[in-house]
Order: sequence, then C-alpha cells, then structure tokens
Amino acid sequence: MRPVATDRVLVLGAGPVGLGTALELARCGVRSVLIEKHDSTSWHPKTRNFNTRTMEIARGWGPAVYERLRGIDTPPGWKSPIRFTRTAVGEELGVIESKGFEGPGPDVSPAWPVMSSQELIEAILLDAVRATRMVDVRFATEATKLVRGGHADDDTAALEVRSRATGASEVLAGRALVGADGSASLVRHELGVELEGAKELRHIVNCYFRADIERHIGDRKGVLFFVSNEQASGVLQPLDGAGRWLCQIAVAPYSYDWIDNGGRRSPRTLTPGVGDPAVGDRVQVFRITEVEPGRQWSGVTIPKVFGRTAVTYAVEPDGHGSRLVCRITTSQHGPVAWTWSRLLAWGDLVMMRKQLLTFKELAETAPPAS
Ligand SMILES: Cc1cc2nc3c(=O)[nH]c(=O)nc-3n(C[C@H](O)[C@H](O)[C@H](O)COP(=O)(O)OP(=O)(O)OC[C@H]3O[C@@H](n4cnc5c(N)ncnc54)[C@H](O)[C@@H]3O)c2cc1C
Repeated sequence: MRPVATDRVLVLGAGPVGLGTALELARCGVRSVLIEKHDSTSWHPKTRNFNTRTMEIARGWGPAVYERLRGIDTPPGWKSPIRFTRTAVGEELGVIESKGFEGPGPDVSPAWPVMSSQELIEAILLDAVRATRMVDVRFATEATKLVRGGHADDDTAALEVRSRATGASEVLAGRALVGADGSASLVRHELGVELEGAKELRHIVNCYFRADIERHIGDRKGVLFFVSNEQASGVLQPLDGAGRWLCQIAVAPYSYDWIDNGGRRSPRTLTPGVGDPAVGDRVQVFRITEVEPGRQWSGVTIPKVFGRTAVTYAVEPDGHGSRLVCRITTSQHGPVAWTWSRLLAWGDLVMMRKQLLTFKELAETAPPAS
C-alpha cells in the first residue's frame, strides 16, 4: 500500500478537539481528513464546559456556530455552586462557589462560556465542519498504525486505517497529522510519549440518564453534586436543568473491598449494559488487542508498566462447566523490574482470584439472559 501525498492534513479523532482542529484548518484555507473510529460523533456526554477561551476561538468559526453553541447553554442557576451531599437531596456537607463557569464578563472578554453536554456540542461542530466543504469526514474508520511522521526528518505523515464496515485497510497521507484521538491516543503511543503523573486514579462508570430530579432539588441547584454515603460515592451532573443527568460513580472492584474499595461493599449484582469488548477499547490500564467473543479477550498495558505487560481473560472448558482464567505476561529488563513483576503477579493473583470468584458467584445467582 503506497500512500499518495496530498496537501491535506490528517486529523485523527472527531471529538471536540478534532472537530475544532478541522474547523480551524478550514478557517485558514487548509483541507483536512477527519478520521473517527465510531459511526458518528459521541452520543454520550462527557465534555460539558466550553470555557471563555474556547468560545473566543469558536467566534472565529462564524456567528451562526457561536450562537448555536450559546443556545445550548444550561439555564441560570445550574453553573454554580459545587455541592457535597450525602444524597442528591440529603444532608449537605459543604459548598464551593464555582463562578468561573459563568465567565469573567464583558470587561474581560466578548465571549461567554457554555455549560452543556458533549453530544450537543459535537453535533453543532460537525454541522459546521460539513458546511466548510473542506473536510473529508470519515466515520467508522480506525487508525491502526502510524506509517510516517514519527521522525524529525519526515516531511509528510501517513496513517494506516481500517474500515470498520468492510475490514479493508488503506494508508492515508497528508502534509501533517494532528493526533486528537483522546487520552488513550494511538499517535502518542506510537511516538512513545507516555502520559505523565498518576494513572487510573479511580475506576468509574459514566452513566447518562433522564429523571426529574430537579423538582426534588428545588432551590438547591448546582453544577456538580458530589454524593457520598455507605452505598455509593460519585458525582451527579445536571446537563440541562430539565431532566437530563450524568452520573459518575466509582466502580466496585469486586475483590477484597477493605483493600480495593475503601471498606465499601461491592454491589451484589453484575453491572448491566457494559457491552461487548472490541479491539482498541480501553479496559482499565489495558488496550484490547484481540477478542474472541464469548471466549477470551487480550490486551496490553497503555502505560508501560514493568516493561510491557499483557493480560488475557479467557473462559476455558472444565469438565461439565468452565473456568474463568486470567493470565498476565510481563517483559522484564533488570533486577528491579524482575522483582516488581513478581510482586505484581503475586499481588494480582490474590486480588484477581477473589474478583473472579465474586464474578462467578454473581453470574451463577443472576437470572439467565432472555
Ligand atoms: C468518564 C469521563 C468523564 C468526563 N467528564 C467530563 C465532564 O464532566 N466535563 C468535562 O468538561 N469533561 C469531561 N471529561 C473530559 C472530556 O471528555 C475530554 O476532555 C474531552 O472529550 C477531550 O476531547 P478530545 O477531542 O481530546 O478527546 P475525545 O473526546 O476522547 O475524542 C477522541 C476521539 O478520537 C477517536 N479515536 C481514538 N482513537 C482512534 C483511532 N485509533 N482511530 C480513529 N478514531 C480514534 C475516539 O473515538 C474519539 O471520538 C470526561 C472524560 C471521561 C473519560
């Protein structure tokens, strides 16, 4: 496969950053190819805040785009404060003013920030991208390899991409490549640029739902409701003050709760709706490299822990039943890595054994899927 060099720029990822990049390039008269592995922009709200500086940039995309973004701003009262409570409507433990979300005002900037939700923001940006007629938008197209552009003397970039519809691969070339492919970035990974700082601070589930919680909250509005009690800890986010909510809740590790879960009890039911794993998905610190539906998945660590670490979760036949087996492989360089890899293996053996036994117990008590 020989990539054809063109004057366009490759933009990997159609999240807020990739869409914004394509719009900025178009504003400067530069064509681009926007590559996104999913079939569409996000349907799930994660990003909420387009701050004052971002909205200053958005003004450059034209008054129609700016006004549409302003039009999805959350109603008054839902940008401040941040509340800490036992439950959404229960005892309040603390309050922090968060006036920053309301913007500094016209003395500082002509632009006003927007507090909304990612799927609405992205839909507006995608319409704007299409309206430029300068962006070749390719959904359901996954970048699998950085072919060129990783070396200082490369004067063009090329990406190998795979169509998720047909499985066919091709190489796309461009004058430059913008890696806007999120926190588990393939581009960053291929360049060997690791994230700095602590990883995996907490494993949480991001849950999007509708419920008329507002009428129970009454005047005690806010932008974030940090909730903590014996059953759960997480944060509730009102998306529009009219029934759409986002909840980020810490996931139980299902292992030894007193070690992994701060003493809270893991739920006694399996989490529904998790969906099937797919190659490229992130599972905790692993990127999935192979999936055999109903039998096994394998992945490698995204941060390079003890060299490179690979994991496989597999269901294996065992007499009349089956066993869920977890296998970890690490590459070791030097005595320190050797020692740590042993500690990791034995520590994980104890924790995973308990986790798998809990899953087994829950799966065996759950009603069969209809
Ligand atoms: C659980 C969670 C909760 C969050 N909550 C909030 C919040 O409440 N408020 C807030 O402001 N921000 C929140 N954020 C942060 C916010 O989502 C990010 O800051 C924002 O999405 C970053 O935008 P981005 O365009 O850089 O990346 P992303 O939005 O992650 O977009 C990257 C895109 O690249 C695509 N992609 C990745 N790899 C490939 C590939 N190999 N080939 C093709 N396409 C690829 C992805 O599918 C994705 O569409 C949250 C993030 C998470 C994970």
